[in-house]
Amino acid sequence: MGYKKCVVKGCGRTTKTHPATSFFSFPKVKGIDRESIERRRMLWLQRTHTTEEELLTKVFLKICGRHFILGTFSSFCVFDKNLTDDMF
Ligand SMILES: [Zn+2]
Repeated sequence: MGYKKCVVKGCGRTTKTHPATSFFSFPKVKGIDRESIERRRMLWLQRTHTTEEELLTKVFLKICGRHFILGTFSSFCVFDKNLTDDMF
């Protein structure tokens, strides 16, 4: 293994095939803002058709920067709706 893979259907980018692409982990529920993190995590799971179980067993599953409007994690964090259309 040793590389990350984009979990979005039809994308299939990996750090191997696209080394210049950023890959983002699913949000971890912890800290004082648990509720909003939990919501975001659920949203990511729903939109990528991924289960909690899959995430636990396949830690290499990420979402690549292609699915974030500005290509940054923070913009996605703040604006959950800013997923690009090819998520669906
Ligand atoms: Zn991707």
